[in-house]
Amino acid sequence: MSSKLYPLFANVSGRPVLVVGGGGVGERKAASLLESGAVVTVGAPEITPTLRQWAEAGRIRWRQGRFDDDWLDEPWLVIAATGDADLHARIAALAQSRRLWLNVVDDTERSSFHVPAVIDRAPVTVAISSGGHAPMLARLLRERLELLIDPVTGPLATLLGDMRAGIRRKLPDMAARRRFYDRALSGPIQSLLRRGQRALAEAATERLLESFDAPLQGSVILLGAGPGDPGLLTLRGLRALNEADVILYDRLVSREVLALARRDAECVEVAKQAGNHHTTQEQIHALMLQHARAGRRVLRLKGGDPFVFGRGGEELEFLRAHDIPYEVVPGITAALACAAYAGIPLTHRDHAQSVRLVTAHCQGSLDTLDWRALAQERQTLVVYMGTSELAVLREHLLAHGRAASTPFALVENGSRPEQRVVVGTLDGLVKGAEQYAVRSPALLILGEVAGLASSLAWFGRPPLASSAVSPVTALTA
Ligand code: SAH
Repeated sequence: MSSKLYPLFANVSGRPVLVVGGGGVGERKAASLLESGAVVTVGAPEITPTLRQWAEAGRIRWRQGRFDDDWLDEPWLVIAATGDADLHARIAALAQSRRLWLNVVDDTERSSFHVPAVIDRAPVTVAISSGGHAPMLARLLRERLELLIDPVTGPLATLLGDMRAGIRRKLPDMAARRRFYDRALSGPIQSLLRRGQRALAEAATERLLESFDAPLQGSVILLGAGPGDPGLLTLRGLRALNEADVILYDRLVSREVLALARRDAECVEVAKQAGNHHTTQEQIHALMLQHARAGRRVLRLKGGDPFVFGRGGEELEFLRAHDIPYEVVPGITAALACAAYAGIPLTHRDHAQSVRLVTAHCQGSLDTLDWRALAQERQTLVVYMGTSELAVLREHLLAHGRAASTPFALVENGSRPEQRVVVGTLDGLVKGAEQYAVRSPALLILGEVAGLASSLAWFGRPPLASSAVSPVTALTA
């Protein structure tokens, strides 16, 4: 192909389009044409069961039989997907002489139009073409953009479209309109639409029409970064990382996750370490407030999920009290990630009907726990903790009747390349942690299901078995 393609979006709504070929490819083409409102005819001797259903339901017309020249009398566009090169050559020659736009699937030479790879955020469509040179590359780009283009783009375009005439009337000056749109496209309107609050989004747009030159209103997104593996981040989280002006992150957030942040975002570590609080919770609150009041989009980034032992609740209470708008994006909490990456199902029909998440960060928090309930059988206990509290934990559980033979798994650096899993039984818990010098961040999974780690492990190195300790020595240790 010599010259470059002229991009164009065709309005096929209510217009006849012909698909020659009734196999899987023909079916996919017919489906996307139907979505665009085309009047679809599929011409082929045989068609797929789905196409047949559509024909019976009157959604498409089926011209049963071999291709005939007069099939080309009606349509505006033709797609040939028969796999028969001779037939394709014949259709191409006919289409050329009749000035009909033709796409021959996987045949750049014979096609007069190409069907791009599409990111659908109706009414917004992003189309990518490699001009027939490298369809795989176009597909790869599509996948990347699919992740980056927020689903809220569609509702936002619809809303702005519905209000467009009013906006023009209100702001006849083009420069003013541009300033308005700059604001409208980056502010709270999207955030409201994302929550499904269309009426409030409309009201916010009206308000913005009055005050788009006022100082920017900042906001905070509370984002769960997951346990470390950046692949466990949500798509919404990835987009938030791409849009942030300031990122306040905790020590547990992995470097790989931070690497996904917008290049020019200001990243501030607000490290909190047990017993060594570099930044107090009050200082974190003050930082959020200061940046949000300066009109910035603040990302408060926390390990795991912000609402699981993450003090996310306190931060929202503070933001609400100071009238700072916020959103919450969940993350994969350590319990889910460590269990998954250690091959431990948290519930199992044969072993555990319930899961409890508890934290044992200090003696104080241990004293308030309901040990009788925690020591129950057939439940999985997941303990977020300082590894220093293992001895107290073991002692209390044994004293309240949990069997000394209950399996445990200690997952250190879960989901990260350096992940280690130490397995054993409750009596040997402390010894096992010492034997392998288990360090923070580590998570304890205790219960019958932990015994499955040895057979179901799949990630990183195989579990390390702690040497057996007799219950008697263990109890007195
Ligand atoms: N909000 C976080 C938990 C914060 S409390 C979440 O939802 O995961 C901190 C504790 O979480 C750590 O002491 C450790 O017990 C656990 N933890 C967090 N990330 C971990 C990881 N990658 N591997 C093992 N444990 C982890």
